[in-house]
Amino acid sequence: MSDQPARSFKTSQWNRRQLLQAGGLAALASLASPVWSNDELEQPPTTPQAALDRLIEGNQRFVSGQTLSIHQDLNRVKEIASRQTPFAAFLGCADSRVPIELVFDQGFGDLFVTRIAGNIASNENVGSLEFGTQILGAKVLYVLGHSACGAVAATMQGTEVPGQISGLFQYIRPAVKAAKGNMELAVQENVRNQAQLLAESSPVISRMIQRKELIVAGGVYDLQTGRVTPVECHVS
Ligand SMILES: [Zn+2]
Repeated sequence: MSDQPARSFKTSQWNRRQLLQAGGLAALASLASPVWSNDELEQPPTTPQAALDRLIEGNQRFVSGQTLSIHQDLNRVKEIASRQTPFAAFLGCADSRVPIELVFDQGFGDLFVTRIAGNIASNENVGSLEFGTQILGAKVLYVLGHSACGAVAATMQGTEVPGQISGLFQYIRPAVKAAKGNMELAVQENVRNQAQLLAESSPVISRMIQRKELIVAGGVYDLQTGRVTPVECHVS
């Protein structure tokens, strides 16, 4: 039953290619940008490095306006209804301007995402990410910060905030201290710190890293351009 719509999805991609060829633009398009095979991207990556590459390529497509939007239709929803095998797990900020699947051109069932203001490695998030990696098999654990992060800025300002918002600050303070008032550096440092915290606070995650079943990586999303710039994390 699910075969029919799946074929029509592929057909529509093929028609797009045909259209390019008909206009004599295929050669130009391949010169101007990398070529991604839809068939290849239908299969999950098999190694941690391949999983990380898949994310980087997805963001390149997003930034260059060449998204493939694979796994974003109802066929995919039905295909994975009984079982999920996300290839990457995320600790990202709750900011409404950083929707992780869109930023990396991924779809249903590809990413196991936890989001919290300031992308902090609180206990509950660590527990979720242990589930996403150890149980579901995600091969890359990615900490994604972003430019002009409100949680980092609020920690830096240190002014009084309502409710339980200040509960976030304790996680972000070390990065703010190290950055000495530089907001950009504070965001980068916070990504590094949270990545380190994930490994330090979770024997499950650190064991997977040691066994080379998992890569921990980090990056900063630019609210202006949509580009994710890697942050060296050195987590072991
Ligand atoms: Zn934020």
